[in-house]
Amino acid sequence: MVTANAPLALTPANVRLLDQQFDKFPTEKVLAWAWERFGAKAAVGTSFQGAGLVMLHLAKQAGIQFPVFTLDTGLLFPETLELKKRLEDFYGFQIESLEPDLTVEEQADVSGPELWKREPDLCCTMRKVLPLQGKLADLDCWITGLRRQQSDTRASIGIIELYAFDEATGRDIVKLNPMANWSREAVWQYLKDNKIPYNPLQDQGYRSIGCWPCTKRTGSGEDERAGRWTGFNKVECGIHTFLPKKVDFQI
Ligand code: SF4
Repeated sequence: MVTANAPLALTPANVRLLDQQFDKFPTEKVLAWAWERFGAKAAVGTSFQGAGLVMLHLAKQAGIQFPVFTLDTGLLFPETLELKKRLEDFYGFQIESLEPDLTVEEQADVSGPELWKREPDLCCTMRKVLPLQGKLADLDCWITGLRRQQSDTRASIGIIELYAFDEATGRDIVKLNPMANWSREAVWQYLKDNKIPYNPLQDQGYRSIGCWPCTKRTGSGEDERAGRWTGFNKVECGIHTFLPKKVDFQI
């Protein structure tokens, strides 16, 4: 049997076994495993959706201080930028902002104005994926607040997954989704019970909040992420799809 704290080689087969165990663990125990295994080479990436905020609180309650970062595209809502400051005060740590190489204005000079209206995939690559890729180069474990209930594209995510970060060198990276099996209702109950600051746009019908040009309110019967990239056949920005997932689970 695999034990959570054993210094296992993180092969696809072992990651699959860990995933089966982690699905039954309390979230704090998964976070503790990552802290023990990776220390500060594990970091939380958050866009300040509810699940990420719960996860940061659970880690803090457990005495765990992962580095935390966010992708500041230059196109975030003012409410989101304000929330970042409120969260830094609430949690008592700084949140690193990763920025694209080009400002929005410089991108307009290079690629034309409002690229998000014409080529949102390219815009997301420039403003989200590339900055993230640079950050992940320094990490062994990337921790997210993804939940399976958010959308069809996330319905089968693991609590722990393994990705090929650099196929040329064979370097892999672990992706941890400790909130994968939380419901939206449980997340919001936890946030309210613990008086955790959250984005006020949530109370105005925005259930998944990204850049202002690509975020709309959603109806109650829609997926939480239905308000993202309305009018395009696009449901993910690319940060969760650009790395090849290791799927060979044969030892
Ligand atoms: S979400 Fe929209 S504005 Fe933000 S990086 Fe992607 S395409 Fe550009």
